[in-house]
Amino acid sequence: MKALVKSKAEEGIWLQDVPVPTYGIDDVLIKVLKTGICGTDVHIYNWDAWAQKTIKPGTVAGHEFVGRIAAVGGNVRDHKVGDLVSAEGHIVCGHCRNCHAGRRHLCANTLGVGVNRDGAFAEYVVVPALNVWHCDDKVPLELYAIYDPMGNAAHTALSYDLVGEDVLITGAGPIGVGAVPMALKAGARYVVVTDVNEYRLDLAKKMGATAVVNVAKEDLKKTMSDLGMSEGFDVGLEMSGNPGGLRQMISAMAHGGKIAMLGIQSGETGVDWDAVVFKGLNLRGIYGRMFGETWYKLTSMIQSGMDIQPVITHRYSYKDFQKGFDVMRSGNSGKVILDWSEL
Ligand code: NAD
Ligand code: ZN
Repeated sequence: MKALVKSKAEEGIWLQDVPVPTYGIDDVLIKVLKTGICGTDVHIYNWDAWAQKTIKPGTVAGHEFVGRIAAVGGNVRDHKVGDLVSAEGHIVCGHCRNCHAGRRHLCANTLGVGVNRDGAFAEYVVVPALNVWHCDDKVPLELYAIYDPMGNAAHTALSYDLVGEDVLITGAGPIGVGAVPMALKAGARYVVVTDVNEYRLDLAKKMGATAVVNVAKEDLKKTMSDLGMSEGFDVGLEMSGNPGGLRQMISAMAHGGKIAMLGIQSGETGVDWDAVVFKGLNLRGIYGRMFGETWYKLTSMIQSGMDIQPVITHRYSYKDFQKGFDVMRSGNSGKVILDWSEL
């Protein structure tokens, strides 16, 4: 089959013919229809320090996908050939304390599809049946290809009560802009988004942000005062992974404010811990999504009118994968979809 393989320990990713993956008795084999390119895939493409220590050359990348079940293992009862599905890309161990307690999103031994094992940039991908999510016909198919990152956005946005609250999102990447309609749907009063990239701030505006601030040249405090905010933000969603974004968020929070941290900090943060203590802030790390629950809530919010489709800005055939990676690497994109359905 065709697949995008990280076959060499250098910058790039290569379209190659590889064997169709084998599946076990508890697995499903899925014929891939559409995939999303994730920031993680860009790290793999770039062969940066994280990729070098994490990725085994020869790995098929990709973990955001939608497809149809092509075969099921002998133990699989709930899924059948032909079902339209997406899947949770975090594969958990099943035997640690959190797995036993049903808190699978907190498994300490999580492995990633397209990171620690072969992924979905391919004609076929294999995942455990437990990870499969059935698609609703009424939700646009391509949205299921980005349920993984939109699940990150939803898990972060829904981690605190937002009813009536003023929300700051630092970072208008695909996840940050995806979180805008979610925060509004969850009851936020104002959703203010910061970035340093005009293309992405425009996208945040399109997604319904109350205000956007280019922190390279504008003052967040001025926006807050224009909105009549006197005490700071109630909830912060850190989605930039940039130390400056995190520091600015901490300084803009109200006393007693709550911060959900999704962004993976690119270096030393220089956080003002005194501000965290004296403001009585509550900080929470967010990893992945909640199995089932986040997928359910995301579906319900879409079914009841939340529009996240503008987050998808580029669509290509798998054959034009290079264009997809180039636009992702330029920073001037939201989500980029690769179509594999012609195979
Ligand atoms: P992205 O890198 O596409 O977006 C980050 C945005 O932050 C960029 O648009 C960038 O211009 C902006 N930015 C840079 N400096 C800034 C500053 N000082 N203030 C405000 N914005 C600034 O990332 P993404 O794909 O949208 O993901 C968001 C973050 O979440 C990334 O750090 C990513 O690594 C992380 N992530 C975490 C998980 C998890 O499970 N915790 C999962 C997926 C992604
Ligand atoms: Zn576990």
